[in-house]
Amino acid sequence: MIKVNDIVKIYKNGNMELKVLKGLNLEVKEGEYVAFMGPSGSGKSTLMNILGCLDSLTSGTYILDNQDVSTIKGDALADVRNKKIGFVFQTFNLLPKMTAVENVALPALYAGLKKAERIKKATEALESVGLGERIHHKPNEMSGGQRQRVAIARAIINNPKILLADEPTGNLDSKSGEEVLEIFKKLNDNRTTIVMVTHEEDVAEHCKRIIRLKDGVIEKDELVQRRRGV
Ligand code: ATP
Ligand code: MG
Repeated sequence: MIKVNDIVKIYKNGNMELKVLKGLNLEVKEGEYVAFMGPSGSGKSTLMNILGCLDSLTSGTYILDNQDVSTIKGDALADVRNKKIGFVFQTFNLLPKMTAVENVALPALYAGLKKAERIKKATEALESVGLGERIHHKPNEMSGGQRQRVAIARAIINNPKILLADEPTGNLDSKSGEEVLEIFKKLNDNRTTIVMVTHEEDVAEHCKRIIRLKDGVIEKDELVQRRRGV
């Protein structure tokens, strides 16, 4: 599903260069549920943005769903993203002037669906995250947890094979965070591959595998042991 070989990411600002990913190798198979952890600045968001086709890499290879996307840039990269990936951000990133259903329908517009079909799919996606009653509310008329669930509905409207989430519970109280994790569990039970970043050990323990980054490489990669009866 995801196969990353020796990737390097260097940010260049004028004469300044910052090497953030330093030859990272990673494989994530279909149906996995992975948490990335690691200190602030270790390159977690940088890696997620590359995996999510939001940014391109400096060197190395990235094979996504059997397609080499390492050298794809710009609109072509956006096209891959739209077909294969759903992305959830810590700060929700909803458009404030649009209602929930309009926000959720946007990726379906980019995918070329007709309006009636877009609204139908967006409504179903919102129902699947428990927001069937709130489809005409705008973001500022909703709680943080509800906004994040709108963002998840938007991420899954095109049925992506992979859901990437960068600190999806970072701005939420624990109850709303639990709701988000329940939705992720249901999606993963239905074979969606999920990769998320979190700072919280208890959030990471919901996943099946925890990968720790340090200084732009993987420091530790281990399966989560389930306690008996849990
Ligand atoms: P946090 O836990 O704080 O979110 P992170 O592990 O997600 O941290 P990144 O956001 O990947 O870390 O940042 C890694 C390093 O790259 C940091 O030093 C950051 O300042 C730098 N960086 C991130 N994005 C850019 C950019 N667009 N241009 C230049 N430098 C950047
Ligand atoms: Mg980050």
